[in-house]
Amino acid sequence: MGIILKSAAEIEAMKEAGCLSAKALRVAGELCRPGASTWEIDEAVEAVIRDDGGVPAFKGYAGFPASICASVNDEIIHGIPSKDVVLREGDIISIDTGAVVDGWVGDNAWTFPVGEVSEEKRRLLQVGEECLWAGIEGARAGNRMGAIGSAVEHRAREAGCSVVREYVGHGIGRDMHEAPNVPNYGWRHRGVKLAVGMVLAIEPMVNAGSCRTRQMDDGWLVRTEDGRPSVHFEKTVAITEDGPVLLTVEPGRLRPL
Ligand code: MG
Repeated sequence: MGIILKSAAEIEAMKEAGCLSAKALRVAGELCRPGASTWEIDEAVEAVIRDDGGVPAFKGYAGFPASICASVNDEIIHGIPSKDVVLREGDIISIDTGAVVDGWVGDNAWTFPVGEVSEEKRRLLQVGEECLWAGIEGARAGNRMGAIGSAVEHRAREAGCSVVREYVGHGIGRDMHEAPNVPNYGWRHRGVKLAVGMVLAIEPMVNAGSCRTRQMDDGWLVRTEDGRPSVHFEKTVAITEDGPVLLTVEPGRLRPL
């Protein structure tokens, strides 16, 4: 399937799904306190999405059993919520939420600190968020796809961190995963030429240590190979004549925190 460009009206319509995805992520973040289980955060997020007339985008997607992905500390992505995963002071937790509204999908993620976290984790949170904003800056018509990935990779490397290579961002629209892939690495002048009407989920995964990953036996959860922490920041972004426009935001609020 080729890249499906969206009209200005379609991008406008996608803001509904984006806004609800962002609300779900904010609510999830507010619940990330010591003693909370990832299962109860998932329940709350599903209620928020359904109460506003949306459908959780992840539930049932390729068989995924929940409405959020919840990945703690050295877990990178795709953690399945569980009553057995209880947050503790000093953890970091990456939460990914997605909502479908009127057939359009929104997808976003953020890594939240649980109480006071170590200096290493605090710095990693900062670097990961900066990687996201750097990547979004590259999402401009006329640039190559590599403008996004090279900006992400540059910021991560200059901070002594690494970016995950096996998992990448993606086009998004009526399907959660559309063409093209959006890698978090690359060369600035390489890759697909970016054009007005592309809508991309830009989602750097940044590791404190090595970029190497391990897939767990449940077929979903991915961890860092070296056991050091990882963060994940994602927004759904439309490329317009006026530059990148964030779709997964609530009015007046760029970050879920
Ligand atoms: Mg995504």
